[in-house]
Amino acid sequence: MVAENGTKKTNQEETNNVLKSTQTVIHKALEKLGYPEEVYELLKEPLRMMTVKIPVRMDDGSTKIFTGYRAQHNDAVGPTKGGIRFHPGVTETEVKALSIWMSLKCGIVDLPYGGGKGGIVCDPRDMSFRELERLSRGYVRAISQIVGPTKDIPAPDVFTNSQIMAWMMDEYSRIDEFNSPGFITGKPLVLGGSHGRDSATAKGVTICIREAAKKQGIQIEGARVVVQGFGNAGSYLSKFMHDAGAKVVGISDAYGALYDPNGLDIDYLLDRRDSFGTVTKLFNNTISNKELLELECDILVPAAIENQITKDNAHDIRAKIVVEAANGPTTLEATEILTDRGILLVPDVLASAGGVTVSYFEWVQNNQGYYWSEEEVEEKLEKIMVKSFNSIYDTAQTRRVDMRLAAYMVGVRKMAEASRFRGWI
Ligand code: NAD
Repeated sequence: MVAENGTKKTNQEETNNVLKSTQTVIHKALEKLGYPEEVYELLKEPLRMMTVKIPVRMDDGSTKIFTGYRAQHNDAVGPTKGGIRFHPGVTETEVKALSIWMSLKCGIVDLPYGGGKGGIVCDPRDMSFRELERLSRGYVRAISQIVGPTKDIPAPDVFTNSQIMAWMMDEYSRIDEFNSPGFITGKPLVLGGSHGRDSATAKGVTICIREAAKKQGIQIEGARVVVQGFGNAGSYLSKFMHDAGAKVVGISDAYGALYDPNGLDIDYLLDRRDSFGTVTKLFNNTISNKELLELECDILVPAAIENQITKDNAHDIRAKIVVEAANGPTTLEATEILTDRGILLVPDVLASAGGVTVSYFEWVQNNQGYYWSEEEVEEKLEKIMVKSFNSIYDTAQTRRVDMRLAAYMVGVRKMAEASRFRGWI
Protein backbone atom coordinates (compact mmCIF):
# COMPACT_ATOMS: atom_id res chain seq x y z
CA MET A 1 0.00 0.00 0.00
CA VAL A 2 2.79 2.36 0.95
CA ALA A 3 4.66 1.49 -2.22
CA GLU A 4 1.51 1.97 -4.31
CA ASN A 5 0.88 5.42 -2.83
CA GLY A 6 4.54 6.27 -3.28
CA THR A 7 4.43 5.31 -6.96
CA LYS A 8 1.26 7.33 -7.57
CA LYS A 9 2.80 10.40 -5.96
CA THR A 10 5.87 10.11 -8.17
CA ASN A 11 3.71 9.82 -11.29
CA GLN A 12 1.65 12.82 -10.20
CA GLU A 13 4.81 14.82 -9.45
CA GLU A 14 6.26 13.90 -12.83
CA THR A 15 3.15 15.00 -14.74
CA ASN A 16 2.98 18.22 -12.68
CA ASN A 17 6.59 18.88 -13.68
CA VAL A 18 5.84 18.15 -17.33
CA LEU A 19 2.95 20.68 -17.29
CA LYS A 20 5.09 23.27 -15.46
CA SER A 21 7.97 22.84 -17.94
CA THR A 22 5.58 23.31 -20.87
CA GLN A 23 4.14 26.45 -19.26
CA THR A 24 7.67 27.78 -18.65
CA VAL A 25 8.61 27.43 -22.33
CA ILE A 26 5.25 28.91 -23.49
CA HIS A 27 5.89 31.90 -21.24
CA LYS A 28 9.41 32.38 -22.65
CA ALA A 29 8.16 32.00 -26.23
CA LEU A 30 5.42 34.63 -25.75
CA GLU A 31 7.90 36.99 -24.09
CA LYS A 32 10.32 36.61 -27.02
CA LEU A 33 7.46 37.35 -29.43
CA GLY A 34 6.46 40.43 -27.41
CA TYR A 35 2.96 39.31 -26.35
CA PRO A 36 1.52 40.72 -23.12
CA GLU A 37 0.99 38.61 -19.96
CA GLU A 38 -2.75 38.05 -20.60
CA VAL A 39 -1.89 35.92 -23.65
CA TYR A 40 0.08 33.63 -21.35
CA GLU A 41 -2.84 33.56 -18.88
CA LEU A 42 -5.09 32.43 -21.75
CA LEU A 43 -2.74 29.77 -23.12
CA LYS A 44 -1.22 28.26 -19.98
CA GLU A 45 -4.22 25.94 -19.33
CA PRO A 46 -6.94 24.40 -21.52
CA LEU A 47 -10.02 26.56 -22.17
CA ARG A 48 -12.24 23.60 -21.32
CA MET A 49 -11.75 20.48 -19.24
CA MET A 50 -14.48 17.87 -18.86
CA THR A 51 -14.37 15.05 -16.32
CA VAL A 52 -16.84 12.21 -16.81
CA LYS A 53 -17.88 9.05 -15.01
CA ILE A 54 -18.57 6.08 -17.29
CA PRO A 55 -20.54 3.12 -15.90
CA VAL A 56 -19.63 -0.09 -17.73
CA ARG A 57 -21.33 -3.47 -17.37
CA MET A 58 -18.47 -5.97 -17.00
CA ASP A 59 -18.58 -9.52 -18.37
CA ASP A 60 -19.13 -10.98 -14.86
CA GLY A 61 -22.35 -8.94 -14.47
CA SER A 62 -20.87 -6.30 -12.12
CA THR A 63 -20.80 -2.59 -12.98
CA LYS A 64 -17.55 -0.65 -12.87
CA ILE A 65 -17.41 3.15 -12.91
CA PHE A 66 -14.49 4.54 -14.96
CA THR A 67 -13.18 8.12 -14.92
CA GLY A 68 -12.50 9.88 -18.21
CA TYR A 69 -11.27 13.33 -19.27
CA ARG A 70 -11.40 15.52 -22.35
CA ALA A 71 -9.31 18.70 -22.52
CA GLN A 72 -9.73 21.39 -25.18
CA HIS A 73 -6.76 23.66 -25.00
CA ASN A 74 -7.58 26.47 -27.45
CA ASP A 75 -10.12 26.60 -30.29
CA ALA A 76 -9.33 30.06 -31.66
CA VAL A 77 -7.74 28.64 -34.83
CA GLY A 78 -10.35 25.93 -35.42
CA PRO A 79 -11.77 22.76 -33.87
CA THR A 80 -9.56 21.03 -31.33
CA LYS A 81 -7.83 17.76 -32.22
CA GLY A 82 -6.03 15.09 -30.26
CA GLY A 83 -5.91 11.47 -29.18
CA ILE A 84 -7.60 9.44 -26.46
CA ARG A 85 -5.35 7.50 -24.09
CA PHE A 86 -6.46 4.37 -22.21
CA HIS A 87 -4.00 3.87 -19.35
CA PRO A 88 -4.12 3.25 -15.58
CA GLY A 89 -1.75 6.22 -15.04
CA VAL A 90 -3.92 8.82 -16.84
CA THR A 91 -4.37 12.00 -14.73
CA GLU A 92 -6.15 15.30 -15.31
CA THR A 93 -2.79 17.12 -15.33
CA GLU A 94 -1.34 14.76 -17.92
CA VAL A 95 -4.35 15.23 -20.22
CA LYS A 96 -4.03 19.02 -19.84
CA ALA A 97 -0.31 18.97 -20.74
CA LEU A 98 -0.93 16.66 -23.70
CA SER A 99 -3.67 19.00 -25.03
CA ILE A 100 -1.24 21.95 -24.90
CA TRP A 101 1.37 19.94 -26.84
CA MET A 102 -1.29 19.17 -29.46
CA SER A 103 -1.98 22.91 -29.88
CA LEU A 104 1.74 23.52 -30.35
CA LYS A 105 2.07 20.68 -32.89
CA CYS A 106 -0.93 21.95 -34.89
CA GLY A 107 0.58 25.46 -34.89
CA ILE A 108 4.00 24.16 -35.99
CA VAL A 109 2.72 22.15 -38.96
CA ASP A 110 0.14 24.86 -39.67
CA LEU A 111 -3.07 22.84 -39.41
CA PRO A 112 -6.46 24.60 -38.99
CA TYR A 113 -6.86 23.15 -35.48
CA GLY A 114 -6.24 23.81 -31.81
CA GLY A 115 -5.13 21.05 -29.45
CA GLY A 116 -7.29 18.61 -27.53
CA LYS A 117 -6.67 15.37 -25.66
CA GLY A 118 -8.66 12.71 -23.84
CA GLY A 119 -7.98 9.87 -21.48
CA ILE A 120 -9.67 7.14 -19.48
CA VAL A 121 -8.18 5.67 -16.30
CA CYS A 122 -8.27 1.96 -17.14
CA ASP A 123 -6.00 -0.92 -18.08
CA PRO A 124 -7.12 -2.28 -21.45
CA ARG A 125 -4.70 -5.22 -21.04
CA ASP A 126 -7.02 -6.56 -18.30
CA MET A 127 -10.30 -5.99 -20.16
CA SER A 128 -12.17 -8.18 -22.65
CA PHE A 129 -12.97 -7.09 -26.21
CA ARG A 130 -16.64 -6.45 -25.35
CA GLU A 131 -15.82 -4.57 -22.11
CA LEU A 132 -13.53 -2.31 -24.16
CA GLU A 133 -16.32 -1.75 -26.68
CA ARG A 134 -18.80 -0.77 -23.91
CA LEU A 135 -16.22 1.56 -22.33
CA SER A 136 -15.42 3.22 -25.69
CA ARG A 137 -19.10 3.77 -26.50
CA GLY A 138 -19.81 5.01 -22.94
CA TYR A 139 -17.01 7.57 -23.18
CA VAL A 140 -18.41 8.96 -26.45
CA ARG A 141 -21.91 9.26 -24.93
CA ALA A 142 -20.42 11.06 -21.91
CA ILE A 143 -18.46 13.66 -23.93
CA SER A 144 -20.80 13.89 -26.96
CA GLN A 145 -21.95 17.43 -26.16
CA ILE A 146 -18.48 18.94 -26.54
CA VAL A 147 -17.02 16.88 -29.43
CA GLY A 148 -17.91 16.60 -33.14
CA PRO A 149 -16.41 16.94 -36.64
CA THR A 150 -16.37 20.76 -36.40
CA LYS A 151 -15.80 21.02 -32.60
CA ASP A 152 -13.24 18.54 -31.34
CA ILE A 153 -11.93 15.54 -33.29
CA PRO A 154 -10.40 12.65 -31.30
CA ALA A 155 -7.82 10.08 -32.50
CA PRO A 156 -5.87 7.10 -31.09
CA ASP A 157 -3.12 7.44 -28.50
CA VAL A 158 -1.46 5.08 -26.01
CA PHE A 159 -3.35 1.72 -25.87
CA THR A 160 -6.16 2.79 -28.23
CA ASN A 161 -6.34 1.63 -31.85
CA SER A 162 -8.37 1.67 -35.06
CA GLN A 163 -10.96 -0.79 -33.66
CA ILE A 164 -11.66 1.54 -30.72
CA MET A 165 -11.90 4.49 -33.15
CA ALA A 166 -14.43 2.46 -35.20
CA TRP A 167 -16.69 1.83 -32.16
CA MET A 168 -16.45 5.48 -31.17
CA MET A 169 -17.32 6.67 -34.68
CA ASP A 170 -20.29 4.28 -34.78
CA GLU A 171 -21.58 5.51 -31.40
CA TYR A 172 -21.23 9.16 -32.39
CA SER A 173 -22.99 8.48 -35.74
CA ARG A 174 -25.94 6.97 -33.80
CA ILE A 175 -26.16 10.00 -31.48
CA ASP A 176 -25.81 12.44 -34.40
CA GLU A 177 -28.17 10.38 -36.61
CA PHE A 178 -25.73 10.81 -39.56
CA ASN A 179 -22.78 8.76 -40.71
CA SER A 180 -19.97 10.89 -39.25
CA PRO A 181 -16.54 9.62 -40.35
CA GLY A 182 -15.08 13.11 -39.73
CA PHE A 183 -15.80 12.77 -35.99
CA ILE A 184 -12.63 10.79 -35.32
CA THR A 185 -9.37 9.86 -37.09
CA GLY A 186 -7.18 6.77 -37.01
CA LYS A 187 -10.10 4.64 -38.26
CA PRO A 188 -9.75 1.40 -40.25
CA LEU A 189 -9.36 2.04 -44.01
CA VAL A 190 -12.81 0.56 -44.77
CA LEU A 191 -14.44 3.16 -42.48
CA GLY A 192 -12.68 6.17 -43.99
CA GLY A 193 -9.21 5.82 -42.49
CA SER A 194 -6.25 7.24 -44.39
CA HIS A 195 -3.41 5.40 -46.03
CA GLY A 196 -0.16 6.04 -44.19
CA ARG A 197 -1.71 6.87 -40.78
CA ASP A 198 -0.05 3.94 -38.91
CA SER A 199 3.47 4.92 -39.89
CA ALA A 200 2.91 8.69 -40.08
CA THR A 201 4.64 9.61 -36.80
CA ALA A 202 7.75 7.59 -37.69
CA LYS A 203 7.73 9.04 -41.25
CA GLY A 204 7.69 12.55 -39.82
CA VAL A 205 10.53 11.70 -37.41
CA THR A 206 12.53 10.20 -40.32
CA ILE A 207 12.13 13.41 -42.34
CA CYS A 208 13.30 15.49 -39.34
CA ILE A 209 16.32 13.20 -38.89
CA ARG A 210 17.24 13.58 -42.57
CA GLU A 211 16.92 17.39 -42.45
CA ALA A 212 18.85 17.65 -39.15
CA ALA A 213 21.59 15.37 -40.53
CA LYS A 214 21.98 17.69 -43.54
CA LYS A 215 22.47 20.66 -41.20
CA GLN A 216 25.09 18.76 -39.17
CA GLY A 217 26.88 17.38 -42.25
CA ILE A 218 26.04 13.74 -41.40
CA GLN A 219 25.34 11.16 -44.14
CA ILE A 220 22.32 8.96 -43.38
CA GLU A 221 23.95 6.10 -45.28
CA GLY A 222 26.07 4.36 -42.66
CA ALA A 223 25.06 6.69 -39.79
CA ARG A 224 24.82 4.93 -36.39
CA VAL A 225 21.30 5.22 -34.96
CA VAL A 226 20.02 4.34 -31.47
CA VAL A 227 16.26 4.12 -30.85
CA GLN A 228 14.72 3.87 -27.37
CA GLY A 229 11.31 2.13 -27.57
CA PHE A 230 10.18 -0.43 -30.15
CA GLY A 231 6.44 0.32 -30.27
CA ASN A 232 4.51 2.07 -33.04
CA ALA A 233 6.91 5.04 -33.33
CA GLY A 234 10.21 3.26 -32.58
CA SER A 235 9.70 0.12 -34.69
CA TYR A 236 8.56 1.89 -37.88
CA LEU A 237 11.34 4.42 -37.40
CA SER A 238 14.00 1.69 -37.03
CA LYS A 239 12.71 0.12 -40.24
CA PHE A 240 12.76 3.42 -42.17
CA MET A 241 16.30 4.24 -40.97
CA HIS A 242 17.50 0.70 -41.77
CA ASP A 243 15.95 0.91 -45.26
CA ALA A 244 17.63 4.29 -45.82
CA GLY A 245 21.03 2.65 -45.26
CA ALA A 246 21.64 3.75 -41.66
CA LYS A 247 23.06 1.29 -39.13
CA VAL A 248 20.58 0.85 -36.27
CA VAL A 249 23.07 -0.20 -33.55
CA GLY A 250 20.72 -0.06 -30.53
CA ILE A 251 17.02 -0.51 -29.77
CA SER A 252 15.13 -1.04 -26.52
CA ASP A 253 11.81 -1.73 -24.87
CA ALA A 254 10.57 -1.50 -21.28
CA TYR A 255 12.59 -4.60 -20.30
CA GLY A 256 16.04 -3.81 -21.68
CA ALA A 257 18.06 -2.93 -24.77
CA LEU A 258 19.96 -4.63 -27.59
CA TYR A 259 23.28 -3.39 -28.97
CA ASP A 260 25.34 -4.47 -31.96
CA PRO A 261 28.03 -2.07 -33.25
CA ASN A 262 27.70 -3.69 -36.70
CA GLY A 263 23.95 -2.96 -36.89
CA LEU A 264 20.99 -5.01 -35.63
CA ASP A 265 18.85 -7.23 -37.87
CA ILE A 266 15.80 -4.95 -37.80
CA ASP A 267 13.59 -7.11 -40.03
CA TYR A 268 14.13 -10.07 -37.68
CA LEU A 269 13.35 -7.95 -34.59
CA LEU A 270 10.19 -6.55 -36.21
CA ASP A 271 9.09 -10.06 -36.94
CA ARG A 272 9.57 -11.13 -33.32
CA ARG A 273 8.16 -8.10 -31.45
CA ASP A 274 4.76 -8.43 -29.77
CA SER A 275 1.83 -6.00 -30.08
CA PHE A 276 3.05 -4.02 -27.01
CA GLY A 277 6.48 -3.38 -28.63
CA THR A 278 8.38 -5.98 -26.57
CA VAL A 279 11.26 -7.93 -28.12
CA THR A 280 14.31 -7.86 -25.82
CA LYS A 281 12.91 -10.61 -23.53
CA LEU A 282 13.92 -13.10 -26.24
CA PHE A 283 17.63 -12.33 -25.77
CA ASN A 284 20.13 -12.96 -22.93
CA ASN A 285 22.86 -10.47 -23.77
CA THR A 286 20.86 -7.28 -23.20
CA ILE A 287 22.05 -3.93 -21.84
CA SER A 288 20.00 -1.45 -19.78
CA ASN A 289 18.01 1.50 -21.15
CA LYS A 290 20.45 3.79 -19.29
CA GLU A 291 23.41 2.22 -21.13
CA LEU A 292 21.52 2.44 -24.43
CA LEU A 293 21.03 6.20 -24.11
CA GLU A 294 24.77 6.67 -23.49
CA LEU A 295 25.96 4.63 -26.51
CA GLU A 296 28.26 6.34 -28.97
CA CYS A 297 26.19 7.09 -32.09
CA ASP A 298 25.33 9.79 -34.61
CA ILE A 299 21.58 9.94 -34.02
CA LEU A 300 19.68 9.15 -30.81
CA VAL A 301 15.88 8.86 -30.91
CA PRO A 302 13.99 8.57 -27.61
CA ALA A 303 10.70 6.96 -28.74
CA ALA A 304 9.33 5.54 -25.47
CA ILE A 305 8.35 7.66 -22.47
CA GLU A 306 8.92 11.01 -20.70
CA ASN A 307 11.91 12.20 -18.66
CA GLN A 308 14.60 9.91 -20.10
CA ILE A 309 17.33 12.51 -20.68
CA THR A 310 17.74 14.56 -17.52
CA LYS A 311 20.47 16.66 -15.88
CA ASP A 312 21.85 13.38 -14.48
CA ASN A 313 22.73 11.80 -17.84
CA ALA A 314 22.75 14.71 -20.35
CA HIS A 315 26.53 15.04 -19.97
CA ASP A 316 26.93 11.37 -20.93
CA ILE A 317 24.91 11.45 -24.16
CA ARG A 318 27.32 10.71 -27.03
CA ALA A 319 25.04 11.39 -30.02
CA LYS A 320 25.47 14.31 -32.43
CA ILE A 321 21.73 14.73 -32.98
CA VAL A 322 18.84 13.89 -30.62
CA VAL A 323 15.39 13.69 -32.25
CA GLU A 324 12.45 13.35 -29.84
CA ALA A 325 9.85 10.93 -31.20
CA ALA A 326 8.36 10.50 -27.70
CA ASN A 327 6.45 13.27 -25.94
CA GLY A 328 8.60 14.96 -23.28
CA PRO A 329 11.66 12.63 -23.16
CA THR A 330 14.13 15.45 -22.34
CA THR A 331 13.84 17.79 -19.35
CA LEU A 332 14.47 21.53 -19.69
CA GLU A 333 17.77 21.33 -17.76
CA ALA A 334 18.92 18.53 -20.06
CA THR A 335 17.88 20.52 -23.15
CA GLU A 336 20.18 23.32 -21.98
CA ILE A 337 23.08 20.94 -21.32
CA LEU A 338 22.76 19.24 -24.72
CA THR A 339 22.51 22.59 -26.52
CA ASP A 340 25.60 23.92 -24.68
CA ARG A 341 27.45 20.78 -25.76
CA GLY A 342 26.63 21.51 -29.42
CA ILE A 343 24.20 18.58 -29.78
CA LEU A 344 21.30 19.43 -32.10
CA LEU A 345 18.01 18.59 -30.35
CA VAL A 346 14.88 18.36 -32.51
CA PRO A 347 11.96 18.76 -30.07
CA ASP A 348 8.91 16.49 -29.72
CA VAL A 349 6.36 19.10 -30.77
CA LEU A 350 8.05 19.23 -34.19
CA ALA A 351 9.50 15.73 -34.61
CA SER A 352 6.34 13.78 -33.74
CA ALA A 353 3.87 16.04 -35.58
CA GLY A 354 3.59 13.63 -38.54
CA GLY A 355 0.81 11.71 -36.77
CA VAL A 356 -1.54 14.65 -36.37
CA THR A 357 -0.68 15.83 -39.89
CA VAL A 358 -1.93 12.58 -41.45
CA SER A 359 -4.92 12.64 -39.07
CA TYR A 360 -5.72 16.02 -40.60
CA PHE A 361 -5.43 14.45 -44.08
CA GLU A 362 -7.88 11.76 -42.96
CA TRP A 363 -10.39 14.39 -41.78
CA VAL A 364 -10.02 16.34 -45.06
CA GLN A 365 -10.64 13.15 -47.07
CA ASN A 366 -13.71 12.34 -44.92
CA ASN A 367 -15.08 15.86 -45.41
CA GLN A 368 -14.65 15.81 -49.18
CA GLY A 369 -15.56 12.13 -49.60
CA TYR A 370 -12.60 11.61 -51.95
CA TYR A 371 -9.68 9.42 -50.95
CA TRP A 372 -5.96 9.75 -51.69
CA SER A 373 -3.34 7.13 -52.54
CA GLU A 374 -0.49 6.32 -50.16
CA GLU A 375 1.91 8.20 -52.50
CA GLU A 376 -0.24 11.36 -52.32
CA VAL A 377 -0.33 11.18 -48.51
CA GLU A 378 3.45 10.71 -48.30
CA GLU A 379 4.17 13.52 -50.72
CA LYS A 380 1.97 15.96 -48.79
CA LEU A 381 3.45 14.89 -45.43
CA GLU A 382 6.99 15.30 -46.79
CA LYS A 383 6.29 18.90 -47.92
CA ILE A 384 4.76 19.91 -44.58
CA MET A 385 7.48 18.32 -42.41
CA VAL A 386 10.38 19.75 -44.46
CA LYS A 387 8.85 23.24 -44.40
CA SER A 388 8.13 23.05 -40.65
CA PHE A 389 11.60 21.75 -39.80
CA ASN A 390 13.31 24.50 -41.76
CA SER A 391 11.09 27.27 -40.43
CA ILE A 392 11.94 26.22 -36.87
CA TYR A 393 15.63 25.69 -37.60
CA ASP A 394 15.82 29.16 -39.17
CA THR A 395 13.93 30.73 -36.23
CA ALA A 396 16.42 29.08 -33.85
CA GLN A 397 19.36 30.46 -35.83
CA THR A 398 18.06 34.00 -36.30
CA ARG A 399 16.67 34.39 -32.75
CA ARG A 400 19.69 32.56 -31.21
CA VAL A 401 17.52 30.17 -29.22
CA ASP A 402 17.42 26.37 -29.00
CA MET A 403 15.07 24.46 -31.31
CA ARG A 404 12.59 23.74 -28.48
CA LEU A 405 12.06 27.42 -27.76
CA ALA A 406 11.98 28.17 -31.51
CA ALA A 407 9.30 25.47 -32.00
CA TYR A 408 7.20 26.91 -29.17
CA MET A 409 7.54 30.39 -30.70
CA VAL A 410 6.23 29.10 -34.04
CA GLY A 411 3.59 26.95 -32.29
CA VAL A 412 2.03 29.65 -30.09
CA ARG A 413 2.05 32.46 -32.62
CA LYS A 414 -0.95 31.30 -34.66
CA MET A 415 -3.05 30.63 -31.53
CA ALA A 416 -2.18 34.01 -30.08
CA GLU A 417 -2.96 35.82 -33.34
CA ALA A 418 -6.26 33.97 -33.84
CA SER A 419 -7.27 34.76 -30.24
CA ARG A 420 -6.43 38.43 -30.85
CA PHE A 421 -8.43 38.65 -34.12
CA ARG A 422 -11.41 37.04 -32.39
CA GLY A 423 -11.23 39.84 -29.82
CA TRP A 424 -10.48 37.51 -26.89
CA ILE A 425 -7.35 39.37 -25.84
P1 NAD B 1 3.86 2.12 -27.89
O1 NAD B 1 3.07 1.81 -26.67
O2 NAD B 1 3.49 1.51 -29.20
O3 NAD B 1 5.42 1.70 -27.62
C1 NAD B 1 6.15 2.15 -26.52
C2 NAD B 1 7.52 1.46 -26.51
O4 NAD B 1 8.27 2.01 -25.42
C3 NAD B 1 7.45 -0.06 -26.28
O5 NAD B 1 8.47 -0.69 -26.99
C4 NAD B 1 7.70 -0.16 -24.76
O6 NAD B 1 8.23 -1.43 -24.39
C5 NAD B 1 8.72 0.94 -24.58
N1 NAD B 1 8.80 1.39 -23.19
C6 NAD B 1 7.79 1.56 -22.32
N2 NAD B 1 8.28 1.94 -21.12
C7 NAD B 1 9.62 2.03 -21.27
C8 NAD B 1 10.68 2.37 -20.40
N3 NAD B 1 10.48 2.68 -19.14
N4 NAD B 1 11.95 2.38 -20.90
C9 NAD B 1 12.17 2.04 -22.20
N5 NAD B 1 11.21 1.69 -23.06
C10 NAD B 1 9.95 1.68 -22.59
O7 NAD B 1 3.92 3.70 -27.97
P2 NAD B 1 4.15 4.62 -29.27
O8 NAD B 1 2.86 4.90 -29.91
O9 NAD B 1 5.30 4.08 -30.06
O10 NAD B 1 4.59 5.98 -28.53
C11 NAD B 1 5.91 6.16 -28.03
C12 NAD B 1 6.09 7.64 -27.70
O11 NAD B 1 5.88 8.41 -28.87
C13 NAD B 1 5.12 8.17 -26.65
O12 NAD B 1 5.77 9.17 -25.92
C14 NAD B 1 4.03 8.79 -27.49
O13 NAD B 1 3.30 9.78 -26.78
C15 NAD B 1 4.86 9.37 -28.61
N6 NAD B 1 4.08 9.64 -29.82
C16 NAD B 1 3.51 8.61 -30.52
C17 NAD B 1 2.74 8.90 -31.62
C18 NAD B 1 2.14 7.79 -32.45
O14 NAD B 1 1.50 8.11 -33.47
N7 NAD B 1 2.33 6.53 -32.10
C19 NAD B 1 2.52 10.23 -32.02
C20 NAD B 1 3.13 11.26 -31.29
C21 NAD B 1 3.90 10.94 -30.18
